[in-house]
Amino acid sequence: MKRAELLKDLRNVPDYPMAGVQFKDVTSWFMNPKDLHEIAESIYEYYKDKGITKVCGIESRGFVVGAILAEKLGAGFVPIRKPGKLPYEKVSIEYKKEYGFDRIEMHKDSICEDDVVLVHDDLLATGGTSSAACAMIEQFHPKKVMANFIIELTNFKSRERFPKDVDIYSLVEMDEMEGCD
Ligand code: AMP
Repeated sequence: MKRAELLKDLRNVPDYPMAGVQFKDVTSWFMNPKDLHEIAESIYEYYKDKGITKVCGIESRGFVVGAILAEKLGAGFVPIRKPGKLPYEKVSIEYKKEYGFDRIEMHKDSICEDDVVLVHDDLLATGGTSSAACAMIEQFHPKKVMANFIIELTNFKSRERFPKDVDIYSLVEMDEMEGCD
């Protein structure tokens, strides 16, 4: 499926959740079987020979394709969640958002030194959440950390926020204003 064809099905919601944001609603892809298959299959093809042992999905839209990828890659799935959602012993990391700070958590026994880790989220914007997730995972010294997004909003130029050794691949790179009338 071509990029343009996929983008035709992506709903853009202006001014959500706040004025000025062009919200890329990936649920308009997830509800479409052809799109969901195409997205999961294309990302799987990119990572299938990279020896990934754990996929870390970021709450909550990162859980959908993250879990599909984990199963297809023969890897385990690790949820990265907002504070207070995980039941067992956790590690957490605080990160800076546009206004104020936020925190994400993961179970402390999720990653070991033998792991090759793929962090997955639906969308890369400022990179605050996913770069913090990579830094949190690197505390466990896995063999390698990679990061993947379905969409990367290139206008944020956020790749530089990531630890240097993290390889990043996004299925669709686009400007936030693309597809807005
Ligand atoms: P980030 O700014 O990269 O930390 O983005 C954090 C999270 O917010 C991502 O997991 C996205 O799901 C969501 N997000 C941020 N900006 C947008 C946007 N324009 N459209 C859809 N989701 C967004």
